[in-house]
Amino acid sequence: MPLALNPQLRRALAERVRYYHELGIYDFYQREPSPSTVTEHTSATDVVSSSESQLEVREEMSARKSAAVQTVAGESAFEILQPKPEYGVADPVAALKLIREDLGDCTRCKLHLQGRKQIVFGVGNPHADLMFVGEGPGADEDAQGEPFVGRAGQLLNNMIKAMGIRREDVYIANIVKCRPPGNRTPERDECETCSPFLMRQIAAIKPKVVVALGAVSAKNLLAISAPMSELRGRWYDFKPAGVRGDPSWPGARLAVTYHPAFLLRDPRQKGEAWKDLQMVMKYLGPESPKKPADEGPAT
Ligand code: SF4
Repeated sequence: MPLALNPQLRRALAERVRYYHELGIYDFYQREPSPSTVTEHTSATDVVSSSESQLEVREEMSARKSAAVQTVAGESAFEILQPKPEYGVADPVAALKLIREDLGDCTRCKLHLQGRKQIVFGVGNPHADLMFVGEGPGADEDAQGEPFVGRAGQLLNNMIKAMGIRREDVYIANIVKCRPPGNRTPERDECETCSPFLMRQIAAIKPKVVVALGAVSAKNLLAISAPMSELRGRWYDFKPAGVRGDPSWPGARLAVTYHPAFLLRDPRQKGEAWKDLQMVMKYLGPESPKKPADEGPAT
């Protein structure tokens, strides 16, 4: 049974895990917790200090020091360590189905009470080399159950087309799967609750490249808070924590660019976004992204 920690304890533990990641330490092992060390009544300070004795840490320094391998803000150590139904399932179609079933008619965060019509899980090629991750569904997405189908979605389609590929060749998802009311920015607790499912989707698809659309997406994927000017124009190593020991996938490279909704408001930045996409195209090369096996080349 998963351990139920209150949000304060979970945040404290997540902060400590992030701290270790900043030191280049990614692998953690859990000893059997004694009932006296982690309880509903334990303070955050107690958990942080006890986590040092709870977690055996093995150091593995990244070969690429300039790159970042981060855990998502919402991935607490206990969530990372919990086995998921799709682990060990090699077929991404089957794995995504298991993740969707596990998500169910989700009521895990307050967004389920704030007017969502439906959960917007994600769309696209489960074998994609390229994934785009936005912030959350808007009104059109909420109505249609698909990410990026409104005006911003049209612009994203044009961006994808300009890369010489098709929308159906890539996979598109969001940090949160339910529409925040009034299209507000999803709050931290909502992102922390929902994004582990996105992490599992990424781990199931195993793309070569993830493109974070906008600062909210970048911040949640990389657990970095920085202005877009600092986040863009570089690569980050990215591998969701739950599959970090999986030798069959080295992880993805992650790039950050502007959210299409921002580009609609400030079209002068389209040139900058195009530079980001060119960086992605250069890395993927002319043979990528993968096309569905039964379809011809992109037109
Ligand atoms: S946003 Fe995510 S965690 Fe929150 S209710 Fe929707 S699916 Fe569940």
